[in-house]
Amino acid sequence: MTTTYVLRGARPLGGEPADVVLSGGVITEIAAPGAAAVPDDAAADVVEIDAADHVLLPGLVDLHTHLREPGREDAETVASGTRAAAAGGFTAVHAMANTSPVADTAGVVEQVWRLGQEAGWVDVHPVGAVTVGLGGERLAELGAMADSAARVRVFSDDGKCVHDPILMRRALEYVKAFDGVVAQHAQEPRLTDGAQMNEGVVSAEIGLAGWPAVAEEAIIARDVLLAEHVGSRLHVCHLSTAGSVEIIRWAKGRGIDVTAEVTPHHLILTDELARTYDPTYKVNPPLRTAKDVEAVRAGLADGTIDIVATDHAPHTREDKDCEWGAAAFGMTGLETALAVVQQTMVDTGRMTWADVARVLSANPARIGRIDATQGRPVAVGEPANLTLVDPAATRTVDGAAQATASGNTPFAGRELPGRVVATFLRGRATVLDGAPVAAPAGATRGGAR
Ligand SMILES: [Zn+2]
Repeated sequence: MTTTYVLRGARPLGGEPADVVLSGGVITEIAAPGAAAVPDDAAADVVEIDAADHVLLPGLVDLHTHLREPGREDAETVASGTRAAAAGGFTAVHAMANTSPVADTAGVVEQVWRLGQEAGWVDVHPVGAVTVGLGGERLAELGAMADSAARVRVFSDDGKCVHDPILMRRALEYVKAFDGVVAQHAQEPRLTDGAQMNEGVVSAEIGLAGWPAVAEEAIIARDVLLAEHVGSRLHVCHLSTAGSVEIIRWAKGRGIDVTAEVTPHHLILTDELARTYDPTYKVNPPLRTAKDVEAVRAGLADGTIDIVATDHAPHTREDKDCEWGAAAFGMTGLETALAVVQQTMVDTGRMTWADVARVLSANPARIGRIDATQGRPVAVGEPANLTLVDPAATRTVDGAAQATASGNTPFAGRELPGRVVATFLRGRATVLDGAPVAAPAGATRGGAR
């Protein structure tokens, strides 16, 4: 028996209050408050939720998640990572290819896709590697991954840059055949050899090797020109500098088919945090300056940057609790992304909740070509992939209390606004009362860890 949910007084996209009814996996009714006709079928299992003053968004879609399975199940598994995703309001994630083995064949992407289905928390869409083993020398079997059961449409060597221009050109040409996209991790390797943090005043003062903005910007400039030359679609991962925003703005003005993402952490944190020498703040690309933070916020607000993507990068304590130079790059993000966007963009008046739905759901779904089922409007007849948020709530982030298996959140101890109250995947609650629901129906692995 499936449960019917009646969300009383929810505000779709932050608009006027309404009763929203979810039944049989779809939105069946949106009525004036108090007017929704609750099914009176005696057999129906009906749950009413007081959603007064809560914002109802389409389920969030992450284009950039590291789930670490196969290979580093000590840092995260598909089950634990997707449970964290649901807790953060997500209903779909794209799982990056830098696993062990690398997701560069139909076999590995199908394995990740199946693990996602078994876990049952969110839809898992594997990203395929661009080059064999992320080696940057030979193209992987992009067509076989696209034709596989996982239907891969996003290809990335993320963690590494496809720095060879010939390979990048071939990848861009190849993915056109199946409407795929190459998602570039823009990092010129020669300019970042040994780099530890943003190159600037702070790196000079504290003596860590600098990572110049131009190492990112030079690759983005090259790749938008390559995308224009071959008439293909390019996505730029985790853009982090003011100059990168300018290049994307220029490229879009020219009509180049490019999209760009920014991470939550690049919307709020700066390289000043490196003064603590706390490797929690070590991330790739590095935290930049306050001027860059302002530029990426402006770029997100004016549409130059299309999406927010978490780059959720869980690491074990052993890989993070060491001196800065030896620590792994990366921070977790699935359970704090929406709160950071609320704090930096909504509570500052720069974006509406409808804009949030665009950058955290509709646009990433469209870029990943999963927009037939995800990132849909909140409307009758649409799949009930939804997240219900209480924007007035606040919480202090506790890394140990999160659903992710790794504790490397940069927001531990910080107070952040908003709380994900409920998440629905095709009408089934994966999160209720702010907590993941114990065992998703149909899950064979569950969320246990
Ligand atoms: Zn990356």
